[in-house]
This record gives sequence, C-alpha cells and structure tokens, in this order.
Amino acid sequence: MTSPDASLPDTLRPRLPSPLREAHDVRFARRGVRLLLKRDDLIHPELVGNKWRKLAPNLAAAGGRTVVTFGGAYSNHLRATAAAGRLLGLATVGVVRGQELARRPLNPSLARCVADGMRLRFVDRATYRRKAEPAVLADLLRAADVEHAYVVPEGGSNPAAVRGARALGGELRGAADVAAVACGTGGTLAGLAAGLAPAQRALGVAVLGGGFLTADVRELQRAAFGGPRGRWRVEDRFHHGGYARVPPVLDAFARDFEDRHGLPVERLYVAKLLWGLVALLDEGAFPAGSTVAAVVTGRPFP
Ligand SMILES: *Cc1c(COP(=O)(O)O)cnc(C)c1O
Repeated sequence: MTSPDASLPDTLRPRLPSPLREAHDVRFARRGVRLLLKRDDLIHPELVGNKWRKLAPNLAAAGGRTVVTFGGAYSNHLRATAAAGRLLGLATVGVVRGQELARRPLNPSLARCVADGMRLRFVDRATYRRKAEPAVLADLLRAADVEHAYVVPEGGSNPAAVRGARALGGELRGAADVAAVACGTGGTLAGLAAGLAPAQRALGVAVLGGGFLTADVRELQRAAFGGPRGRWRVEDRFHHGGYARVPPVLDAFARDFEDRHGLPVERLYVAKLLWGLVALLDEGAFPAGSTVAAVVTGRPFP
C-alpha cells in the first residue's frame, strides 16, 4: 500500500504516527484501567485530526479538480476541506444545508471557509437530503458552475477516507484493549476497526441520535474493504440530544477534563467521547487491568 501523503506537498505534511500518551486520571486509576490519549489533533495545524486521515487520500485522488463537498453550518469537514484547498491551491465548493443561512451573516465556521477560498452554495433541506441522487447532484454542480468536480460526500466518508483512517488502527495495534472514537458519519470508526489487531476492539460513541450508525459503518466497510473488518460497536447513549447539542453538564465535564489533563477538548465530538468513556467506566464496562485509548479527533474551534 502506498502512503497517501506521498503525492502531497509540504504544506500538508503530517505528524504521523500521532503521539500516544497516558493520561493519569483518578477515575480510571480507581478501577485499575489505564487511559491513553491518541493525539490525532496534533497531526496537522490546519487539517486537524481524523480530517487529515480522511481527506489526504481524497485530495491526492482529486488530481487538481474542483473539490465539491457537503456539510452543515458548523461542519469541521467543510473547514478542513477549505483549508486543504488553500494549502494545495485547489478550488473548493461547499454545499451547505439550509437555504435560510444565505440571508444571514456567516457564522465563524463558514466565514473561515470563505476566507480559505471555498465557494459556498446554500441549499434547502429537502434538496440537501437528496444530494447523493445523480440527477440532484448534477443540478447542484451545474448551478455551482463546476465543470470538473471531485465530489466528496458529507463528512468526507467514502472508501478512500475509510482506507485512510485504517492507519489510525494500525498505529494503535497492541497499544490498548479498546480504541474509542467519536462518530459522526462513522468513516473513522470503520477504518479504525479495520486497522486494529484481532484481539482489540473498537468502540464508537455516536454524537447524534437516530441509531443508523451501525448500519452505516457496516456499509462503509463493505464499500472500502469488500466486507466486515475487525471487532467494533457503536454506543448510542451519549449524544446529549443530537448533533452540535452541548448542554451545560457536558460543557462543565469538558472544562473539568481540560483542567485535569491540559487537553483542549473539542465539544461536538471529543467531549461526548470522553463523557461516554467515563460513563461506561462507571458501569464497569472496562475490566481492571485493561487499557482504553481515546482518539482525540479534533480541537476546539475557533
Ligand atoms: C468529523 C469529526 C469526527 C467524526 O468522524 P466520522 O468519520 O464522520 O465519524 C470526530 N471528531 C471530530 C473532531 C470531527 O471533526
């Protein structure tokens, strides 16, 4: 397998493998469990965390075409794609869910996308839901005036991205009994599970409700590898009300974790992962003597 970064310029050069550090946390120590932090947030200053792992193979495959992708108003994936476009000199187009946003001032996340040169197209929610249908997609590309498009799906999870995320599992081989990651579209979990050693388990903490992630991850593995890979499961109980919902208890938990460990805790994904791990620990889900690795997939924005 060739490294996905072989064809990428210096501006995208990653720090890989990302650092793996033990966090001394009394809650885990009390139960005889070791907690490791896999610092994917340190892979690249602008293409942060799992977004580097998922986007790098796609940027190489784009071969200079305009990268068109999709996301909500606060999408980390849109920001990462826009930053990559600037660093690589690639044109990028972001299709944003919510026609009404076109009439409002841009939020800081979308403003950053525009500052990085991304052209934004706002579409109504009904159209956005159907964006993967060939006719709908063709209309979107025509309306955006894109001739040679390289289309990356919402959240960046396609087979190339899942294969890119497999390296995360490879870096954790033998290092932990359980490797845990927050799940939005599930592409990172699909790759992580595939890269681990057979005795290891991957755990995904869903950051949104709906219960569809297990089926999605299975389908992503089928598309990327031809069938199921590794041992994994999705935990659906810790999304705190849905995507981008950060109630005060979760925010307080994240601030406390930051104080204990000096780690900036991204709220939409990483906070829910860490909360889920502490809750599972309290339920006795991790036996004494075991090691849990939490993947820090991002850092707070701005
Ligand atoms: C995008 C993102 C995820 C989710 O990755 P998926 O592959 O979509 O499940 C997790 N953490 C952070 C910080 C992210 O930005």
